[in-house]
Amino acid sequence: MTKELLTAQIIAAHGRHYLATSEGKMLHCVTRGKKSDVAVGDTVHVLPTAKGQAVIESINERHSLLYRSDQYKSKLLAANIDQLFIVVATEPSFSDDLVSRALVAAEAAKIEAHLVLNKTDVTGQLEKARLRTAFYASLGYPVHQVSATAKPDETFSLLMPLVKNRTSILIGQSGMGKSSLINLLVPGADIATREISTVLNSGKHTTTFTRLYRIDENTAVIDSPGFQEFGLYHLTEGMLERAFREFRPYLGHCRFYNCRHLTEPGCAILEAVKTGHISGTRHQLYRQLVHESEQKIY
Ligand code: GDP
Ligand code: ZN
Repeated sequence: MTKELLTAQIIAAHGRHYLATSEGKMLHCVTRGKKSDVAVGDTVHVLPTAKGQAVIESINERHSLLYRSDQYKSKLLAANIDQLFIVVATEPSFSDDLVSRALVAAEAAKIEAHLVLNKTDVTGQLEKARLRTAFYASLGYPVHQVSATAKPDETFSLLMPLVKNRTSILIGQSGMGKSSLINLLVPGADIATREISTVLNSGKHTTTFTRLYRIDENTAVIDSPGFQEFGLYHLTEGMLERAFREFRPYLGHCRFYNCRHLTEPGCAILEAVKTGHISGTRHQLYRQLVHESEQKIY
């Protein structure tokens, strides 16, 4: 007897175990062999085996793909994403290094990136946080000022039109209010997460996996823990220099056609850093990422 393949979407991943939904039903899926090349957000074809269980037979073509870091390797984080929201807050203080790494990941994956400045009701650090996020606005990334707990209705009204009809991923350092925002956008998200933990992780409560919440047929929000986990090791230097969007107007203007923008004489990027047109901190991160990509192990 041959069973029919079903089309399903991966909504959570834990090791080689995946949770998928197909025609409104939840399926516990595994890959064949040791493969784990499936990501949350993937559309797959599965072969049902036992009740509620299935084997992943194939993965549909992806329109975007983000990677997570795994000790100098880039592994799949999430697929078919339209936009990334980086959640930062007035306090605790956020890391510019992590924000820029996330922006590089988004640029390389050709997905839109936004910043969400949360906890704007905490006024002590508000001006400072506004100034710090204004820098990213000056690079062309939209910055949305919200307050998940103090102004939930306004926050919902501001964010919902942005996520509507798209697949968005939210990331943020712990304490920024990402869970509060997810629960605002997806009522019952915390309950759904507990259910997913039970199926995928034999009852142990863990939030260390990426999961997708479907809001309606065309709208999904992905919650991803572990901010620092972006994998950027698969990026070539050619991809890296373009992933810093403020470098782009200068590319092609260096003295050497194969300039790496590190120490070369006549480098247009280094000159722009010197004149203050490119931030020294961002160039320092570029330098660091070039260094890290030299360490990559395949
Ligand atoms: P996560 O670690 O990023 O998921 O952050 P949580 O959503 O768990 O929030 C961390 C803490 O910040 C909790 O105590 C929240 O109640 C609080 N919090 C979240 N959003 C806001 C906000 O807009 N204003 C204030 N004052 N506190 C918030
Ligand atoms: Zn150069």
